[in-house]
Amino acid sequence: MKQHTHLVIVVPCYNEKDVLPEATHKLTDILQRLEESEKINKGTILYVDDGSKDTTWQLIKSFSEINEKVIGIKLAHNVGHQQALWAGLEWASLHADVAVSIDADLQDDVESIITMTDFYNKGIDIVYGVRKERKTDTFFKRNTALLFYKLMHNLGGEIVYNHADFRLMSKRSLQALMNYPERNLFLRGMVCTLGFPSANVYYDRKERFAGESKYPLKKMISFALDGITSFSVRPLRYIVMWGILFILISIIAIIYGIIRFFEGQTIPGWTSLMISLWFIGGAVLTSIGIIGEYIGKIYKEVKQRPRYLIEECIYPKENS
Ligand code: UDP
Ligand code: MG
Repeated sequence: MKQHTHLVIVVPCYNEKDVLPEATHKLTDILQRLEESEKINKGTILYVDDGSKDTTWQLIKSFSEINEKVIGIKLAHNVGHQQALWAGLEWASLHADVAVSIDADLQDDVESIITMTDFYNKGIDIVYGVRKERKTDTFFKRNTALLFYKLMHNLGGEIVYNHADFRLMSKRSLQALMNYPERNLFLRGMVCTLGFPSANVYYDRKERFAGESKYPLKKMISFALDGITSFSVRPLRYIVMWGILFILISIIAIIYGIIRFFEGQTIPGWTSLMISLWFIGGAVLTSIGIIGEYIGKIYKEVKQRPRYLIEECIYPKENS
């Protein structure tokens, strides 16, 4: 069966000079096999250089000169994985029929792209790459990730468990995604809300091929917080419940205090006073902080600044 499909593999890269040669080799090979077996008509690798400080862009340029499948977009400054990915997906929604997003470090299984394409050819719009196990991740990363998925789920965010940003999306699902105006991107959650026919492909996540993780603990925590506050307003509701609980506790304390007063046993009470002072102070500060987090988001959304700025592009020789 001859398909007339143009598949784009979108790869965000930030200081990835060590992994790019291998990534290009592996992805080109996959695309060639897909073309030969006529599962797709044309394959392209789109590198989005997210303001790298090393030689990533020079590498992308040199690859594109010898490999007609390689094209690239250089963003003017580092905007983060999610926004860089968006830049690539936006290009794909305009110029291709289907896109697969994958990290440059080849931790996700490139062979799964074939299975994803098979699903696509059967009419599935979104195929999620789901990690079977996290054997190669550190104990810490595995468990914090698990905690995050659980928390997210409990807070009402709809996300696919153990799915990162390795997924296939059809043109119409990409176009639907492009209608989302928000600047706070949490793509794995946003895609789940689209609601087109979807499927999962399971794979083992490997070690990073070379270079080091661009997600140190600090970035991981802020990504998790971003995810939660972008998708759920429940933390705000919890604050109200905390408040009510404190009022109840203080009513009990007041009654107790009055009884003791009339019994003529006014206790020195310094300790209990200090404790409640600190405790309530902490609770109030946390609550204001959470509200502030949402207000910060609203501020960012209201400004509607561009998600990214393009500095340079390498487009395909003949545009399809
Ligand atoms: N990345 C990016 N911009 C950033 C940080 C990361 O485009 O500011 C890219 C990075 O090059 C990689 C992907 O996002 O292709 C995932 O990053 P990484 O592998 O470091 O994260 P981890 O797999 O450790 O969570
Ligand atoms: Mg990685």
